[in-house]
Amino acid sequence: MAGKSDKITAHVLACGAMHCDLTWLLLRPGRSIASRADTAKPAEWVDCPTHAVLIDHPEARILWDTSCPRDWEDRWEPTGLQDFFPYDGVSDDEYLDARLLQLGLAPRDIDMVVMSHLHFDHAGNVRTFADAGVRLICNDKEYAHATGFSGLFAGAHLKTDYEGLKFDTVSGDTEIVPGVTVLETPGHTPGTMSLQLDLADTGTMIFTSDAIYMKDAYGPPAVGAAIVWDSLEWLRSVEKIRNIAERTDATLVFGHDADQIHQLRIAPSGSYS
Ligand SMILES: [Zn+2]
Repeated sequence: MAGKSDKITAHVLACGAMHCDLTWLLLRPGRSIASRADTAKPAEWVDCPTHAVLIDHPEARILWDTSCPRDWEDRWEPTGLQDFFPYDGVSDDEYLDARLLQLGLAPRDIDMVVMSHLHFDHAGNVRTFADAGVRLICNDKEYAHATGFSGLFAGAHLKTDYEGLKFDTVSGDTEIVPGVTVLETPGHTPGTMSLQLDLADTGTMIFTSDAIYMKDAYGPPAVGAAIVWDSLEWLRSVEKIRNIAERTDATLVFGHDADQIHQLRIAPSGSYS
């Protein structure tokens, strides 16, 4: 590990939860999918927590992802997503801006925002940081896909979130600053990235974002979901993460795990270093 990475601190910003049908997140036969013995079985309506990560590094203050917006109900209205993923499990002190404020930070205090991908529940506040002059980074394939379709939205990409913003793009696995590396883990979307942090005390942490929604999806064997852009790419990415995690003895933090989020050290009271 480079000497400077000894001073990295990661603050997990828990930003409350959306709610959704579990089938979106976990296509596990027998649980998500009804059998003929169970045709009246109601959908399993579950917590879908959302988080961002604030990384204090000697060279830069980095924000990983920007969670959902306060105006979700209006902004998502054209897409219908507000009915499938209502962001109604959030209190006033859990919105991203409140979480940053609890650490004494405003958007202008951030040096760069690194986006795992540009879906509506990750890019919801990215414009706020752009307006504050913060450098934005995402994967080149993600940028091309998210800006390359016609119309306002496609799947869970909503142009209102990011249209017209300038992103610096990266390709492949890229070290942003020493000890902070993005991993190209496509499949969920064309350019989904995961975040690897090499911390002095905690060791390696990998924030998978939507490359892996939850522990039940990680397996082994990996279990798919209702939103996957490319299933084979997705599976390769899960196994890529698994290989790195086994090699580095990493702690994995999944993108939307309703149980795990409550087991983490959460900002402002807790952090990882
Ligand atoms: Zn996503």
